[in-house]
Amino acid sequence: MSWIEDPAFTADEPFGPQTLPYGVVPGGVAVRVGDQALLLRGLALGERLEPLVATGTLDALLAAGRPAWSELRARLVEIVSAASAPRGAELVGLDGAVLPFAVADYVDFYSSRHHAENVGRIFRPDGEALLPNWTHLPIGYHGRAGTVVVSGTPVVRPHGQRRTSAGPVFGPTGRLDIEAEVGFVCGGPVASRLTPSQAVDHVFGVALVNDWSARDVQAWEYQPLGPFLGKSFATSVSAWITPLEAFAVARVSPPPLGNDVLPYLVEERPWGLDIDLEVEWNGVVVSRPPFREMSWTFAQQLAHLSANGATVRPGDLIASGTVSGPSRDERGSFLELSWGGKEPVVLDGDERTFLEDGDTVRITATAPGEGGSVVGLAEVVGTVAPADER
Ligand code: MN
Repeated sequence: MSWIEDPAFTADEPFGPQTLPYGVVPGGVAVRVGDQALLLRGLALGERLEPLVATGTLDALLAAGRPAWSELRARLVEIVSAASAPRGAELVGLDGAVLPFAVADYVDFYSSRHHAENVGRIFRPDGEALLPNWTHLPIGYHGRAGTVVVSGTPVVRPHGQRRTSAGPVFGPTGRLDIEAEVGFVCGGPVASRLTPSQAVDHVFGVALVNDWSARDVQAWEYQPLGPFLGKSFATSVSAWITPLEAFAVARVSPPPLGNDVLPYLVEERPWGLDIDLEVEWNGVVVSRPPFREMSWTFAQQLAHLSANGATVRPGDLIASGTVSGPSRDERGSFLELSWGGKEPVVLDGDERTFLEDGDTVRITATAPGEGGSVVGLAEVVGTVAPADER
């Protein structure tokens, strides 16, 4: 019996001892234990680990690298499994969790074939659904690190330029959307030209991401250089980062691309993660996107983004791209769920195509853990606030 008394801290629950995600609450760096947070300051972790968690962010821990991550996780498993509370242990609530690390660069990929084909059909009905480069390289774009916000932050409806039959106009978006994604938080030494097999030592953990998107702005601006203001206004990320080590038994083979890839992208045994996402719109579950359907792995994404000499550094956030599965109730954006606004989604009698002011979107996820347990990814939630009147 653990000294931590919390019905949510068992192996049957997503935030049991098998998960132990890291975050930052008002008392400092913490691990989530059920519905509480165990502060790491004050615990006897040894002189190597203590300075890594003594500040109000995960930045020092991210920079420390895989050996320190493994050592800390092993020590915390011991601490939370003990029969009596260790000296210095302090449990606090989850409220007030902040963005736990300084986001260095934010890159967003496009690694679901189902999503790429759906968007292709909606945006380019007369062209090929999938562009010819998609099966040869992980398509991505550089996002805006400065507007990555923690779960719970309201999302103000953005202004932008969009096309109408009378020409371009400027104003609040009429097509505010979500993208349900999985994000990889990087750490370890600064590195470039990573091979896929080296990439795993540069990923600290996994978080849920909502890549909010203004589709009318995006549709007008995206050619020829890709997304810009249609996405840069806000990207939400969960407050708790689940360590990559927690997903040891959740590894699965990704679906085949259908052609060979160039040698720098070849993985000996490629693996994705068997994560099931769930998207709630105003409390109604509208989709269950399966992350195991992603074609490109994070290892290939990191190898590709650093292949030209660009560096990967601690705090980089690498998002997967919208997670969509083959069926309608597995689509990770409302653009796809409503098929470009033509097929409304019914929420308790209300019809929706895109987001209205006051709407709340909550994304949660789980993966299989050791011994039949469930590994949780903390929610990423956001409510739409009305556009600025200025
Ligand atoms: Mn995206």
